[in-house]
Amino acid sequence: MTFPEPPYTGACLCGAVQIRVAVSPLLTMACHCRDCQKLSASAYTLTTMFPRGGFSCTGDLVRGGLGSGGRVHFFCKSCLNFVYSQIGGTSERINLRTSMLEQAASFEPFVEVMTDEKMPWAHVPTIHSYPRFPESQEELQSLMDSYSTR
Ligand SMILES: [Zn+2]
Ligand SMILES: [Zn+2]
Repeated sequence: MTFPEPPYTGACLCGAVQIRVAVSPLLTMACHCRDCQKLSASAYTLTTMFPRGGFSCTGDLVRGGLGSGGRVHFFCKSCLNFVYSQIGGTSERINLRTSMLEQAASFEPFVEVMTDEKMPWAHVPTIHSYPRFPESQEELQSLMDSYSTR
């Protein structure tokens, strides 16, 4: 399967939030943590990480989730769909919920994290798997490097 070229487009469930991404993804992930299970009302979340500058969205958003640990989660104000997260106030990256993208099926997760808290029957065929999170920025960078040359 050929990976689609940017730009990518997407929308929340009701369409009030419209997403456009002008750049290629940095990394794709599945997170099995308990918070993500509750946030998504499912077994894990799907994330596609993009450079913040290449991401734009229109429509009214509200903050949700726990609002702790430097994580800010944005939801559509109308349908309350979980759209994206910002990790750290000045982060250069955003974590888009992959399912928002029209081309979501192509963005298969490359890394799974927090398998310590995974539902025992939830299997995600990723290349890299972590019981918790990558240990350091260097490790995250090396994952992004190997994702970009996959
Ligand atoms: Zn909506
Ligand atoms: Zn998580």
